[in-house]
Amino acid sequence: METNTLLQIAKDYGSPIYVYDAEKIVSQYKRLDTAFNKVKQVRINYAVKALSNISVLKLMKTLGSGLDTVSIQEVQLGLKAGFLPEEIIYTPNGVSLDEIEKAAKLGVQINIDNLSILEQFGTKHPKTPVCIRINPHVMAGGNTNISVGHIDSKFGISIHQIPHILRIVENTNMNINGIHMHTGSDILDIDVFLYASEILFETAKNFKNLDFIDFGSGFKVPYKSGDIETDIEEFGKKLTKRFNGFCKEYGKDLTLAFEPGKFLVSEAGYFLTKVNVVKQTTSTVFAQVDSGFNHLIRPMLYGSQHEIINLSNIKGRERFYSVVGYICETDTFANNRRINEITEGDILAFKNAGAYCYSMASNYNSRYRPAEILWHNKEAKLIRKRETFDDILNNQIEISL
Ligand SMILES: *Cc1c(COP(=O)(O)O)cnc(C)c1O
Repeated sequence: METNTLLQIAKDYGSPIYVYDAEKIVSQYKRLDTAFNKVKQVRINYAVKALSNISVLKLMKTLGSGLDTVSIQEVQLGLKAGFLPEEIIYTPNGVSLDEIEKAAKLGVQINIDNLSILEQFGTKHPKTPVCIRINPHVMAGGNTNISVGHIDSKFGISIHQIPHILRIVENTNMNINGIHMHTGSDILDIDVFLYASEILFETAKNFKNLDFIDFGSGFKVPYKSGDIETDIEEFGKKLTKRFNGFCKEYGKDLTLAFEPGKFLVSEAGYFLTKVNVVKQTTSTVFAQVDSGFNHLIRPMLYGSQHEIINLSNIKGRERFYSVVGYICETDTFANNRRINEITEGDILAFKNAGAYCYSMASNYNSRYRPAEILWHNKEAKLIRKRETFDDILNNQIEISL
């Protein structure tokens, strides 16, 4: 997006504010879709948890996307946004049988990732088609919090437990229509992904009535110039070849499914903040903005580096700044970054703010969560209002003491 447009949005709607570029979301979707256009049936299920605003879900719907959901509330959001139940896959971890039954009743594709629930669900609802989430035990992912396929991970049913799965399926006579894996975010190496895929193909041979194989997600996007990103085009070529070969072997054209979150929305997002204070200390210069980890927690939680640009002084000379928030504990967005000279009142834009930013925001320090804008057809559309004091008090009960 043009820096002037972003600056104008900050002027018109105030800060802090999230802005999402619809055009970038569309182009990422098409990129992935094109990379797999030699596979007969492809399903891209957008991972709602990355950015769950209902207007963003509706945009995904216009592209022909399905949804990947991890809670019953995300299922409900998806249905509210106009998705059909069969366009939604529900991939929870560690939820109750009760919640899974509720989702099944809504008609969405159930994906089960533990033996206990598989057995209970299969016994009670043998006719409902179920996908099984496998843990291929491949170490992938940018850091340990987001690597979910390794041996110690709580996700998926271990490939070493396939005999146990088969026994349950046989005893309950349940209908397994899909096999799934999701090994983690920020996969650097295509070959690691392809290796995990081979394990999935091996597993799939055990099930005779499959409709789809779901390869999850984990595509890495660049966070700064020169950053490694998953080569989607090369990945598409390689996996297409293998997948089509497997379908021949299997004797049926299966659907190839993905569930990207970050890949579709990360780069489309900008988080705009205003600099309240420039504070020179003996060791560094702090730029303190009108936000904190309550609005964007990824740097503190994952150590992620969001590029920061000074929209108010795009051509100014560069100086070093530590960009910090206003939360009353250590709240660092960036340490000693080169940024165009900052004056109090300037608007800073954090890039890659589409995925896991607003969706992880909180009211910590009793602050309002920001507004959200969708930049669509060259127009800024408000898709979420900034919170107000009423929102802070909402659901609180004042008792008489
Ligand atoms: C979070 C999640 C995704 C999306 O991961 P990204 O790295 O954002 O693409 C996909 N599938 C499942 C099951 C997830 O939990």
